[in-house]
Amino acid sequence: MAVRAPRSLIRPLVQRLHAYVPGEQPKIPGLIKLNTNENPYPPSPKVLAAVKAAVDGRLRLYPNPTASALRERLAKLHGCAPENIIVGNGSDELLALATRTFVEPVAAEVRRRTDGNASESASSPRRLPSAAVQFFNPSYSLYPVLAEIAGALPNAVPLNADFTLPALASLPKKGWDFKAALSLITTPNAPSGRGYGTAELDALCAKSRGVVVLDEAYVDFAREHAMALALKHPHVLVSRTFSKAYSLCFQRVGYFVGHADLIAALDKVRDSYNVNGLGQVAALATLDDLPYYRRNFRRIIATREQVTRELTGLGWSVLPSQTNFLLARPPRFPAEAWLAKLRAKKLLVRWFKYPEVRDYLRITIGSSAEMETFVRTARAIAAVK
Ligand SMILES: *Cc1c(COP(=O)(O)O)cnc(C)c1O
Repeated sequence: MAVRAPRSLIRPLVQRLHAYVPGEQPKIPGLIKLNTNENPYPPSPKVLAAVKAAVDGRLRLYPNPTASALRERLAKLHGCAPENIIVGNGSDELLALATRTFVEPVAAEVRRRTDGNASESASSPRRLPSAAVQFFNPSYSLYPVLAEIAGALPNAVPLNADFTLPALASLPKKGWDFKAALSLITTPNAPSGRGYGTAELDALCAKSRGVVVLDEAYVDFAREHAMALALKHPHVLVSRTFSKAYSLCFQRVGYFVGHADLIAALDKVRDSYNVNGLGQVAALATLDDLPYYRRNFRRIIATREQVTRELTGLGWSVLPSQTNFLLARPPRFPAEAWLAKLRAKKLLVRWFKYPEVRDYLRITIGSSAEMETFVRTARAIAAVK
């Protein structure tokens, strides 16, 4: 009997999928890693102790399936009920769950007829809002991948050239559909670092008919947060993560806050044991030591402001940041060349080839010592004859 080629066994959607490309995690001794927005400071000693204390024979048991203790603590923190909270294996898992919970997939023929932008073709996302996953461009590059995996219609709408939000009244002509089933908004924005005001987000949410997720992965480094909108609007979810601000990327813990009906729907779709036990232990211990983390936020923000001043002085064009990274256009050489020159000096930053940001580097704020090295190296690279 003829054996079928393995490729022919894979769904066409998956065959054609453009998978997400995570930032590199190279193991180069002495490398200063400023490419994936990790926190340069370790978790609090209390968190490390709690995780170590939990590593014993209990590892054979399943963890709490609903992360109930953690949800109770988070509910207290945010002034809501545990029913308003779902915990995920990182917020990435919850973003994927949102596409499976709120968005109707469409047939492959329909998807093929769309161009991924808000065109007016018969099958454009605007004609099929129930299938639309909508987001601004640029923002978190995982969103279009999640839309594709879900068999949905991605609708990428350009931000203003300076990465601010387009005025509400201008959104429809830019292709934004207030009826889209799911809108994902990175706030503060990545990769630009721009912060968005809660009043502006509130107005956008108020006009939206579908679910809006405000992805606040970097909000601890910002002036404002929009948690109140998740408790005010029944169709708004706020996404948070322990990864970046709370130094727990390795443990994979994120959560959504929102209306109990939306949370219950996501909960139906979730895997029963989606959050691993050590992650739950680590997140709970984190919430017991928030002052430790708030001190680190202040350090990182102070370093961010100092590096902004220094790079600006060296001729870089640095966007104002409300996050733990900078988007900056370097002088003299193209950004891609800077990426290589910095890497040769053991400094790893991120460069995206998308047209909106290809002239920029995204630089995670490291420790103050790491950033002194960065600035010194940048000065030396620019000074070469
Ligand atoms: C890092 C990041 C996430 C994912 O965080 P995890 O909780 O580690 O999955 C989500 N959204 C944005 C914008 C991010 O930068």
